Amino acid sequence: MNKLIDKYGRQITYLRLAVTDRCNLRCKYCMPAEGIKIVPRKELLSYKEIYRITRALTELGVNKIRLTGGEPFVRKDFMQLLEMLSYNDLLKKINITTNGALVKHNIPKLEELNINTINLSIDSLKPERFFEITRRNNFHDVFDTLNLLEKSKINLKLNIVVQPGVNTDEIGDFVALSQERNLSVRFIEEMPFNGTGQRTIDEVWNYNRILEEIRKSHPEFEILDHEKSSTSKNFKLPDSTGNFGIIPAYTRTICHDCNRVRITATGMIKNCLFDDGVFNLKEVLNKDISNEDLKDLFLEIIPQKPKNGFVAEENRRKNPNVSESMSTIGG
Ligand code: SAM
Ligand code: SF4
Repeated sequence: MNKLIDKYGRQITYLRLAVTDRCNLRCKYCMPAEGIKIVPRKELLSYKEIYRITRALTELGVNKIRLTGGEPFVRKDFMQLLEMLSYNDLLKKINITTNGALVKHNIPKLEELNINTINLSIDSLKPERFFEITRRNNFHDVFDTLNLLEKSKINLKLNIVVQPGVNTDEIGDFVALSQERNLSVRFIEEMPFNGTGQRTIDEVWNYNRILEEIRKSHPEFEILDHEKSSTSKNFKLPDSTGNFGIIPAYTRTICHDCNRVRITATGMIKNCLFDDGVFNLKEVLNKDISNEDLKDLFLEIIPQKPKNGFVAEENRRKNPNVSESMSTIGG
């Protein structure tokens, strides 16, 4: 079988696909309060196109998909897309990243479809602060989702974007949550992808600083083994049920083991989070490309992955008009 291996020897086995750029929340680090440009629906990949792309990629060795957005559950019939993808026997894991506001009633069906892991974004355990961050009043919906997922057979990870001056005082509380609860806490370095550049990040809360903060409240913890391509470095408190980790998304110390390709909601292939898109699939799919030609296209484009996020960012600077949000990139 032809595989997607780049010139640095990295094999691409993991697809992150955004199903929409729309969202029901307006997190300050991700989207402006108003006026974000939403793409017309007809420009989004259709579910049939998503199935075709995924099938071709799995025939080239991809075995894991993460569906994200925007908010995946705001797209009409998202559960049907999951059902379609579950028929692909080459996909070993289907994961979702969600804000959790529209999830709780779908949990039995998500279990039935064998969804492997859900990453639930929750940046504060305090309802008022959650409102300040997301500009929406959905704390209780999200927390209900957290409680139900914890009891389900789906693995639960919490995504917490560490925001200077906003939620750094809750780092210890989230670590404490991993002591009692059957979940993995993941702290993410904030990146300057917020749609308009409205929010400036004045203080650096990188991997080292987050770890230092954890040591203040929980001096004893052990380092966990992790998969080579894992985005996080993981730890565990003594005798704890869950674990916690840090994702150095912005310091980019994980690029050498990257196994990911991203596809945006409009079908743009991104070989790196920090590039500005290398090929638009929508155009070729509209022209009825065959499965073999689609695979050849992937074999040509995906192995051109840049060495790391710094190289990708440097290339992107050549296009100064790019101002993206994680909601369009697909977080
Ligand atoms: N709406 C879903 C959610 O919030 O989980 C999925 C899409 S969201 C873009 C995916 C992840 O990206 C979330 O965990 C979110 O917190 C994170 N994210 C968004 N903007 C970010 C930024 N500027 N820096 C770091 N992480 C960010
Ligand atoms: Fe929406 Fe997720 Fe962005 Fe928040 S982080 S605005 S929930 S896409």
